[in-house]
Amino acid sequence: MKAVVFHEFGGLDVLSLEDVPDPRPGPGEVLIDVAACALNHLDVDVREGISRFPVEPPFILGIEVVGRIAELGEGVEGWQVGERVMPFLMATCGDCTYCRTGRESLCLTPGFISFSTSGGYAERLACSTRHLMRVPDELSDEAAAALQIAFGTAWHMLFTRGKLGPGETVMINAVGSGIGSAAVQLAHFAGATVIGNASSDEKLARASELGMDHGINHATQDVVAEVMRLTDDRGVDLVFEHVGGTLFQQGLDSLAKDGRLVICGGHSGEVVPFDIIPFFRGQKSVIGSFVYTRDEVERCLELARRGKIEPLVYKSFPLAEAREAMATMERREQFGKIVIRPGEFEP
Ligand SMILES: [Zn+2]
Repeated sequence: MKAVVFHEFGGLDVLSLEDVPDPRPGPGEVLIDVAACALNHLDVDVREGISRFPVEPPFILGIEVVGRIAELGEGVEGWQVGERVMPFLMATCGDCTYCRTGRESLCLTPGFISFSTSGGYAERLACSTRHLMRVPDELSDEAAAALQIAFGTAWHMLFTRGKLGPGETVMINAVGSGIGSAAVQLAHFAGATVIGNASSDEKLARASELGMDHGINHATQDVVAEVMRLTDDRGVDLVFEHVGGTLFQQGLDSLAKDGRLVICGGHSGEVVPFDIIPFFRGQKSVIGSFVYTRDEVERCLELARRGKIEPLVYKSFPLAEAREAMATMERREQFGKIVIRPGEFEP
């Protein structure tokens, strides 16, 4: 099969399109013809060798996959060749204390797509049936690939970890990103007042179309002053944070008393100073959030099937142009997700 492989960590030029042996489905596994694979910023970190996940080249990237079952491994029941599936990011054990209490994203022995299987920047991928979820007919391959991580992560942050309720006010950082734009849609759908920020007025205008009530340009405006102006000096109930650095600090300062800041990433500054005094005097909370559960993704799939939320695809590329696809993501000019289409290989 064709796959995009890197043999050493580095920049875009380490990626090469190669012929590699087809993966084979082992017992309890299926072989999937990959139709679409969405890109994530994690792919860049993995390629550069700074992801803090145990990865050794040669390596095939790609964690967010949609495709069709091409072959069943030994002992597989309940799945058919030709069914359209989306591997859940993690193969959770179902048996540890976290899996048994509805917190499967904390599974003690998780397997991850691409880390414990091959990745989605390839024509085929083999994985355990423990990963599999069915994809509704109403969604295109590309839209389905764009849904899982953005909406699953946003759901877990907003509702499960952040406990966002109707009538509350939430500030969503970087609304132009995949999870930012997903969070705007889910928070709006849930009846919250949505304040969002982005680095350009163009991105803010797009987010307004998705249900954002107020926009702040964090490149030209004072985020905390604007939040206080918009909330009559009260602050917001919840900050949706995934950026790190300055926006993390500004998020803490934008919280109302007893407010919560929920965070799942920090590319713009992973280690930050932290002013303890206003934090405890305001009785604020910082809440970590890691991926999502299968049930949360299935709820998002159902909302998308009914047209209540829309996975956003900025642009898609054939597999052979994976380097250009990553370059586009690294320029951070997109609104929504970038997808590659191994199912439409063009030599
Ligand atoms: Zn487990």
